[in-house]
Amino acid sequence: MSVTVRVPAKVNVQLGVGGLRADGFHDLANVFFAVALGDEVTATAGGPGTGVTLSCTGPDAEAVPLDDSNLAARAARLLATHHGLAAPDVHLHIAKAIPVAGGMAGGSADGAAALVACDALWGLGTPTEVLLELAAELGSDVPFALVGGVALGRGRGEILEPLPVAGSYHWVFAVADGGLSTPAVFRECDRLREEAGTGSADTEVRTPDADPALLAALADGDAVALAAALTNDLQAAALSLRPALAATLRAGTEAGAIGALVSGSGPTCAFLAKDAESAEAVAAALRASGSCRAAHATYGPVPGAAVAGGA
Ligand code: ATP
Repeated sequence: MSVTVRVPAKVNVQLGVGGLRADGFHDLANVFFAVALGDEVTATAGGPGTGVTLSCTGPDAEAVPLDDSNLAARAARLLATHHGLAAPDVHLHIAKAIPVAGGMAGGSADGAAALVACDALWGLGTPTEVLLELAAELGSDVPFALVGGVALGRGRGEILEPLPVAGSYHWVFAVADGGLSTPAVFRECDRLREEAGTGSADTEVRTPDADPALLAALADGDAVALAAALTNDLQAAALSLRPALAATLRAGTEAGAIGALVSGSGPTCAFLAKDAESAEAVAAALRASGSCRAAHATYGPVPGAAVAGGA
């Protein structure tokens, strides 16, 4: 018996980063946007005593850890423990399309997908609120992969408020060679703030809030206004660690993208296009520019992790 779950990647249309807190985290005002570029996780019942096993296919498969650190495996174990199930026997196959360590929350997406897949495979019927709590335990970006659509994340990003959004938007993602470590990008953001003399502590940096112009653009379905309101407080840090991303952002903009930004902690770059045709043209120009490893045209918002099939 098996269950397949499809799960979206995210792009942050706003990523406001507050100062460094005493607990080592930053307060965020994070507007998550789910896009159709996504992974599929298939959970298959394993034979007695096989434990949790993993496999992965896709262009970045060799970069995905197939040990206990994989968020899909951790999710399966956490769900089993929550229900008092002894050592679960399940095989999780990840069909990976989301760039690894690309700032699109791919690992978090697989964690969310594994929660939903194992819940269905084991017939547990876990209430959504409980799945959301388990997701938050796994990581700050995991709850959003369950919810999908567009949502404002506060705290470390895990306190979610779904946002009203009209229409569909056309995106292009330019995938870089190699990833960027999210903690390293946050550290670089703090370092740049110190260097600029503004300070990096939460007592020195204004607590970020959602941008009203961005929220209005989403509610109105206004792609041009959304493009003008895209912001990412981690972008300077990602560019400082990976200066070549400036050429990627320029190539997409020159090809007609109406908005461009680094996705989350990078190094994937995200471009908003005015329509599907323009998105294909921007993706083709990015591929031809040689400034990225791959470019994908896609759209959103789309729903969160959901069962796509079973056998
Ligand atoms: P975020 O945007 O949430 O910071 P990211 O998209 O930059 O994350 P991920 O693709 O989630 O990065 O991968 C970050 C690291 O997580 C990887 O380098 C890998 O070691 C680990 N990881 C654990 N589970 C997975 C998984 N299922 N898929 C990909 N990476 C995983």
